[in-house]
Amino acid sequence: MTTESPRISATADYIGRMNTPIMTSPEFAIPSRAPAVSTPDDTVLPFEVAALDLRGRVVRLGPVVDEILEKHAYPKPVAKLLGEAIVLTVMLGSALKLDGRFILQTQTDGPVGLLVVDFTTPGKVRACARFGKEGVEAAIAAGKATAGALLGKGHLAMTIDQGADTSRYQGLVALDGGTLEDAAHEYFLRSEQIPTRVRLAVAEEFLATGGGTRHHWRAGGIMLQFLPKSADRARIADLHPGDAPEGVKLPEVPEDDAWVQGRALIETVEDVELIDPAISSERLAFRLFHEPGVRVFKTTDVHAECSCSRESVEAMLKSFSQDDRDHMVEDGKISVTCEFCSANYVFAPGEVDAKAG
Ligand SMILES: [Zn+2]
Repeated sequence: MTTESPRISATADYIGRMNTPIMTSPEFAIPSRAPAVSTPDDTVLPFEVAALDLRGRVVRLGPVVDEILEKHAYPKPVAKLLGEAIVLTVMLGSALKLDGRFILQTQTDGPVGLLVVDFTTPGKVRACARFGKEGVEAAIAAGKATAGALLGKGHLAMTIDQGADTSRYQGLVALDGGTLEDAAHEYFLRSEQIPTRVRLAVAEEFLATGGGTRHHWRAGGIMLQFLPKSADRARIADLHPGDAPEGVKLPEVPEDDAWVQGRALIETVEDVELIDPAISSERLAFRLFHEPGVRVFKTTDVHAECSCSRESVEAMLKSFSQDDRDHMVEDGKISVTCEFCSANYVFAPGEVDAKAG
């Protein structure tokens, strides 16, 4: 999976302080503009820090994450966890070079056994979770409803499906009591050998309205990747030594200074900077990278939309065995509810026989 050079237009702007040109040399000044004051919600902003060989994207979600999470009405820690998975999926899916789908799925033994987020280019997203009510309630009561504790152990799968003519790509990474951020770092390190850092944040916002306060979910994230032109600069020092016997000292591989600098800057990002509508995506990128110089690309829009349809449910039912279909009949009809959007499809048993239609 390549997240480099995503579907962005050729137009890119350097952002600087008060339209001061960025001086790369005395003879050559690149014009720059001030960072935008505000960011429309539900957008992805790709950026590049050419001087450090860094690329990244800032994800800012408002109504998209609110619509999905409100509709499901999951317990809050489950909603927050799914919100993080949505940010990560949008971050990675919006970087696909070709049209297709990007599906992120966790399967673990904790109270939240399954998270599925499905992104279709250029910006359609849907998501759902499966969880054990009692396990989640117990974790909340014990004050231990952290991402790691809710997920438990298992794996995170990322699948890219770019149509019938291409093979599906799937990458797997272990989840071992850690967060989705940890899993993403591990995935890029092991599967892609790309030094990567992501930050994900989800929060509730309470807005005063005429009749009291209205609750909203907001979410955001930032990803940074080190993509040097020469491959040998992408040295990775923090790769887990794997099966090396205890006490064996592994050779220390110094990391590239540019990556050390970029990683240190990303670690300063606070959750509020990823979520607060008053801090624009461009201002965040500028705050972090104004010294080496940062170029921003055109944003892409994201929206919440399910891809289910009566036709697709019908096709699925027809693919089942007659026996399986017979078991689905209740009160003389087959009723199927979409787990992503709760849409309900009702069929007469004869309507979905394999031979029908
Ligand atoms: Zn649906």
